[in-house]
Amino acid sequence: MDETEKRALDKTRKTSKCSSSESDSLCHGQPDEPVLFPREAPSRVLIVEDDPMTRLIMQEKLRQANFMVCEAEDGLAALSAFQDFSPDIVLMDVLMPRMDGITTCSHLRKLPGGKNVPVIMITGLGDLDSIRSAYEVGATDFITKPIQWLILEQRLHYMVRAGRITRELARSEMRLTEAQRIARLGNWEWDPYENLVFCSQEAGRIYGLEALAGFLPAGELLRCIHPEDRDWLEGLLNAVKDEGKSFSVDHRILLPDGSQKVVHNQAEGFRARDGRCARVRGTIQDVTERKHAEEKILYLAHHDTLTGLPNRLLLKEQLAQTLARAKRFETMGALLFIDLDCFKRINDTLGHDMGDRLLQHVAERVTLSVRKGDSVSRGFAEGEDSTVARLGGDEFTVLLSDIRHVEDAGRVARRILDALARPFHLELSEVFIGASIGITVFPHDGEDVDILLRNADTAMYHAKDQGRNNYQFYTRSLHDRALYQLSLENAMRRALEKDEFFLCYQPQWDISTGEIVGVEALMRWHSEEMGPIPPSDFIPVAEESGLIMPMGEWVLREACRECRSWQNLWHKPLRVSVNLSRRQFKSDRLPETVGSVLEEVGLDPTLLELELTESVVMDHTEETLSMLKKLKSMGITLSIDDFGTGYSSLSYLKSLPIDILKIDGSFVRDIPSSENDMAITSAIIAMARSLKLCSVAEGVETDEQLDFLRKCQCIAMQGFLCCPPVSGEKLRDLLQKHRKS
Ligand code: C2E
Ligand code: MG
Ligand code: MG
Repeated sequence: MDETEKRALDKTRKTSKCSSSESDSLCHGQPDEPVLFPREAPSRVLIVEDDPMTRLIMQEKLRQANFMVCEAEDGLAALSAFQDFSPDIVLMDVLMPRMDGITTCSHLRKLPGGKNVPVIMITGLGDLDSIRSAYEVGATDFITKPIQWLILEQRLHYMVRAGRITRELARSEMRLTEAQRIARLGNWEWDPYENLVFCSQEAGRIYGLEALAGFLPAGELLRCIHPEDRDWLEGLLNAVKDEGKSFSVDHRILLPDGSQKVVHNQAEGFRARDGRCARVRGTIQDVTERKHAEEKILYLAHHDTLTGLPNRLLLKEQLAQTLARAKRFETMGALLFIDLDCFKRINDTLGHDMGDRLLQHVAERVTLSVRKGDSVSRGFAEGEDSTVARLGGDEFTVLLSDIRHVEDAGRVARRILDALARPFHLELSEVFIGASIGITVFPHDGEDVDILLRNADTAMYHAKDQGRNNYQFYTRSLHDRALYQLSLENAMRRALEKDEFFLCYQPQWDISTGEIVGVEALMRWHSEEMGPIPPSDFIPVAEESGLIMPMGEWVLREACRECRSWQNLWHKPLRVSVNLSRRQFKSDRLPETVGSVLEEVGLDPTLLELELTESVVMDHTEETLSMLKKLKSMGITLSIDDFGTGYSSLSYLKSLPIDILKIDGSFVRDIPSSENDMAITSAIIAMARSLKLCSVAEGVETDEQLDFLRKCQCIAMQGFLCCPPVSGEKLRDLLQKHRKS
C-alpha cells in the first residue's frame, strides 16, 4: 500500500466507523449531478469490506451518490456497526478474515432490526457457490466485482426504498396484530375450495389453537366451536358461500381446558369473476367479558338485591310465559301472593337491619318449602316448577306451573304457613311472624298477568280479613273445592280405621253365551261425616296422598277372599278383577304383596285379574315391562282398563304380556248415534282380535249397544244393561239364581 492509499484509509477511518453525519458535505448528493430518485434524507449504507482500498473507493462513490456511509473492515466489526448505525442497506464482501460475509449475514439476520434490511453480497464473477450460500443465509442480492458504480448506485437506491417499504409493512402488520390483541379482535379467511382457513394471530388465540396463526383445515377450526353451535355456524358459512348471505352472530367456543368463550363472528363472501365465492372473510371478537357484564346487568335488573330472589319484573315475565304454556297445553298453574302479617312491628321495634335479616330468612324458608326435591319426597304433586319472587317490602310470590289439582296450590300454601310458623332467631331475639296468602289459579281465574297479580292480591286481603295466617283462593268455588279435597284426605285417613270402605262387584258377561265370566271389584266409601263419596272423587286424592297403598292392599285381599268363596256357587271357575292404581303398580313390593295375599286366601292366581290403566302401562320403560312379566309369570291375568283414552302405540302393545283390552265406556255411551265412536269401538275390537287379546266393553246400557258389540264380535261386556255394581251378598244371590237357570 503506497502513501496515497494509506492517507485515503486514514481519512476513511476518521469519517466512517459509523460516524458520518448529515452535516458532512459528502453525505449529500452533488447539485449538478443527475438525480434519478427524488431527494430525501440520505440513505445509510454499511460497507463491509476487508480491503481498505476497495472500501475507500466505495465510500467515496457512495457519498457522492448522496448516501451516508459507515464502514467495517470485517464481519465482527460489521455486526457491532450494524447496531450503532442502523443502516438502510448493507454491502458486504464475501471473503473476509475473522468472519466471512456469509457467516456475518446469517448473524446479522438475527440481530434486532436485522430481519428486513437488504444485504447485498459482493462476490467474484462466477463464484456461484458463494452466491448460493449467501441466499441461503438471507442475503437479498449480490453484485460482482469489478463493480459498475453507476448501476450499483441505482440498485442501492431502489433496494433501500424496497427495504423501507418492507419494513414499513412489517411494522404496520405488527401494529395491526397489536391492535387486534388489544381489541381481542382477529380476522380469518376461508378458502371454500381448498377448505383451508387462514387465522390471524389473535383469531388463533381466540379459538384456543396451539399454532396461533396461519392456514389450517376448516374442520380443525370448526372443532373449536361449541358442539351445540357447530352445525348452525357451519350452515351460516355455507349460506355465505352458496347464497352470498353475510352473517353477524354471537356463538360459543369450547377451549381445550373445557372452559367456554363467547365470540362475535361476522363474515362476508367475496366472489371471483366467474361468480363463484372465492373467499369468505370474517372477523372474530372475544366478547366473553361483555357478555358476562350484560348478564350481570340483566341479573341485577331482574333480581332483588336483599334476598337474591327474582323481582316483580322477572316474575311478570315468568308469569306471562307460564300462562301462555298453560293455555297452549291446557294445563293449570297458580300464583300465590304472600304478605307477612304485622311486619311493620318488627321494623319499628327491632330496627330496619333486623327487618332486612328477617326478610332474608323468610325468603329462604319459602324457597325451601316449595323446592321440588322436598315436595317429591313428601308425596306432593304440585307444579313441576315453582319460582319464588319478592315484589318488595314484605310481599313475596310463589309461581306454580303445571299443577294437577287446585288443592295442590292450597297444600303449598299450607306448607309455607307451617314453615313460617317456626320462630326465627335473629341474634338474641326470637321472632314470630305469620303470613296471609292469596291464591289465584290460571287460566281459570284470568288470562292476563296484571289481572292475575291483582286477583292474588285481592285473595291475600281476603285472607287478612279472615283473621290472618291463612290462605284463600281468589274464586270461592275453587276455595271450596280445595277445602273439600283436603277434608276428603283427612276423612279418608279416619275411614280406614273406621272400616267405612266396602266393595261392590259388577259381573262381566260373555256376549255370545250370555254367561257370567268374571266380576270387577269396585271400591265404595260411605263416610260417616260426609255421606257417600264416589270413587272419582276419593281415588285421585288417595293416589296423591299415598293412602291408596293401604287401601289398595285392602281391596286386593277383600276381593280375593270373596272370590275364593264364590267358587263353589258357580259351575265354572270365576275370575275377579281388581283395579290397580299407578302408585301400586310402580311399587317394587307389588308381586310380593299379591303373592302373599293369594297364598293367605288360598286363591288360584289364574282367578285374579289386575286392571291397569293405559297411561301406566304405556310408559315404555324397562321397569313396566319387567313388572308385567313378573305378574304374568305368577299366572295372573292382566288387562288394560279404559282402553282408547290414552295414546297407545300398537307396536308397543304387541310386546306387552297383556290378556284383555277393556274398551272405555265413553266410546260405548254414544253407540249407535255416534259414527265416530262406533268406528273406534269396532277398530279396538278388531285390533284386540288380531293381537289375540280378549275384548271387554264397559258401560253397556242399551240393547242397541249390545247388538253392535255382538256384530263386531266383542268377547265380553259389563254394564248397567245386565247388572250394575252390587254388594257381595247380592252377587252371591245372582250367581245362585243364574246357576239354577
Ligand atoms: P273403572 O275401573 O273403569 O270401572 C268402571 C266404572 O264404570 C265403575 O265406576 C262402574 O260403576 C261404572 N259403570 C259400570 N257399568 C256402567 C254403565 O253401564 N254405565 C255407566 N255410566 N257406568 C258404568 P265407579 O265404580 O264409579 O268407579 C270409577 C273408577 O274408579 C273405576 O273405573 C276405577 O278406575 C276406579 N276404581 C274403583 N274402584 C277402585 C279400586 O278399588 N282401586 C282403584 N285403584 N281404582 C278403583
Ligand atoms: Mg276397572
Ligand atoms: Mg274402565
